[in-house]
Amino acid sequence: MAGLIRPEDVQAVKERSSIEDVVREHVTLRPGGTGSLKGLCPFHDEKTPSFNVRPAVGAWHCFGCGEGGDVISFIMQIDHLTFSEAVERLAAKLGMELRYDESSGGRGRRDGEGGLGRRQRLLEAHRAAAEFYATALAESTEGVTGREFLDAKGFTADDWVRFQVGYAPQSGEALTRHLRGKGFTDDELVIGGLSGRGSRGLYDRFRGRVVWPIRDITGDTVGFGARRIFDEDRIAAKYLNTSETPLYRKTSVLYGLDLAKKAMAEQRRAVVVEGYTDVMACHLAGVDTAVATCGTAFGVDHIKMLRRILRDEPGLSPARVVFTFDGDAAGQKAAMRAFAEDQRWASQSYVAVAPAGQDPNDLRLSGGDEPVRDLIEQAVPLFEFAVRSTIAPYNLDRAEERVSAMRAAAPILAGIRDTALRPEYVREVAGWLGLPVERMGAEVLAAARRQSSRGPGRAQPEAHATTDRERVAGGQPPGNGGESPARHELPRPDLRDPLVAAERQLLQVVLQYPGSLDEGSLEVLPADALRAPAHQVVFEGVRAGGGLATARTVSTQAWAATVSEATRTDARGLVHELAVAPLPVTLEPSSGLPPRRYVDSLLARVLDAGLARRIADAMSALQRAEPGSTQERALNEQLAVLYRERARMRAETE
Ligand SMILES: [Zn+2]
Repeated sequence: MAGLIRPEDVQAVKERSSIEDVVREHVTLRPGGTGSLKGLCPFHDEKTPSFNVRPAVGAWHCFGCGEGGDVISFIMQIDHLTFSEAVERLAAKLGMELRYDESSGGRGRRDGEGGLGRRQRLLEAHRAAAEFYATALAESTEGVTGREFLDAKGFTADDWVRFQVGYAPQSGEALTRHLRGKGFTDDELVIGGLSGRGSRGLYDRFRGRVVWPIRDITGDTVGFGARRIFDEDRIAAKYLNTSETPLYRKTSVLYGLDLAKKAMAEQRRAVVVEGYTDVMACHLAGVDTAVATCGTAFGVDHIKMLRRILRDEPGLSPARVVFTFDGDAAGQKAAMRAFAEDQRWASQSYVAVAPAGQDPNDLRLSGGDEPVRDLIEQAVPLFEFAVRSTIAPYNLDRAEERVSAMRAAAPILAGIRDTALRPEYVREVAGWLGLPVERMGAEVLAAARRQSSRGPGRAQPEAHATTDRERVAGGQPPGNGGESPARHELPRPDLRDPLVAAERQLLQVVLQYPGSLDEGSLEVLPADALRAPAHQVVFEGVRAGGGLATARTVSTQAWAATVSEATRTDARGLVHELAVAPLPVTLEPSSGLPPRRYVDSLLARVLDAGLARRIADAMSALQRAEPGSTQERALNEQLAVLYRERARMRAETE
């Protein structure tokens, strides 16, 4: 029905609408290179912005999911409108009167669109698409790549038939042609998310990918998940899913639910895995309660759905939900979120992590069905998982890190609102950390007070504090499959620790005002003398980038870039943050630098603590050294140097 509005009017709407303003209503944009703006894509899940708008050209494009077009296609996709509806909406905003071609007769403009019949039509289109994809996998020549992929994942032809896995041909128009031939209109295909509308007409939404039909609880196919299998696939995202449509809302679909619901209701258990192949592997291994989210984190809508099926009601014994996370940062965060979201839910949630982080599909591939079942059986309570993964990055052999780990874990314990349960957990965690129970208890109490003064609900703010770092460090194609670039996360520096706060400010000075430090002033400080591990990594980057000697020869901007490049990738976000975060002092008007006394006191404080730490380490080594050994002699000499250093420094700062 696109032809109904006069083409010249469509053109006028396009020219007069500001694509930037229209997109900004949905996406936060920031400058992204010459003539271009970027933001987080509204059509797929991502952490690093790959959604680009070029206002001068009137175009948008996402390098993550491959969607793109003009202002009209943006409105169509974001609001699920037909072409003419989108044009009308934009025209109304501009106050433009549209003219319609009379030639198409007296038919109503919205003939066949909307209404009760539409859902049925879209479901039929999806059923036909699923059949088309399945046939393409089983029978087409190019489907062989898909069959090989599934074979390599350990699935037989019977398996993929059972799950109705399919293959989307590479041509880019095969499905569209097939469905048109069955009488579906272009608008139906676009609204249903099966086709996209480009400058040269419709194209298949999924091209050259293995596809899984995503069914709602009644078994109707409402969308598809599609996995990249060709190296030459120009869309980098490993998984693409149907974008939001009248049938498909990603926050309320679970892949496999139609297959799992009966067993879930009977056993009052559910298993939440991370991908389509994991759902298949679980079901084939006999874990028939497995489901997966589709391109989004497990959220409150999912909880509600599972609750209904599991009959999670007061009075009944608690239902049990097992999450298999691949033990990485993303999974950990998802767990934390679930924990903060809902206490009752959290208390019946379990986490299963395989020893080497394998997912259920990997496990079945290497060891058969047994390890998959064992994985689910050996799940640990979510609470235990949350605490253990929070303290995992700390080196518990070091006293300061034990304390930092305690501080990091305290908010989780404080988030347990069941006050009868809390002391038990406090005792347990104190045991893991090797700290006195009273000390742990006091820290938890303090954390609880901070939480209640901030308002209820957020048990674990620090679990989210790493987002900035990931955003800056990321650089990875934004896959929907839940893979995260950061495997071992650095703990966020604990700024409540005054020394750590001083370290941070000193690093800010180093990055922002290197001219305010004397060239040799950092030489005496080995990186590991800093208390916060993340600060150590940044300081190593400062060293590797050439130190203050280099800083003098380049612009401040170039210096920050040099340090960033020389720093381990997982701390680059922090470098970036330190290079821009404001210092808590006023700059000297004459020099434009922070006050000398402030810089000196930061330096003295960090150097002194660093020396104290090295002295303590040397003393402790000395106690363990063989009397009269060369090691003992060396340690004594080292100690003498350290004491002299400290005396000199203290004399200087007095
Ligand atoms: Zn995208």
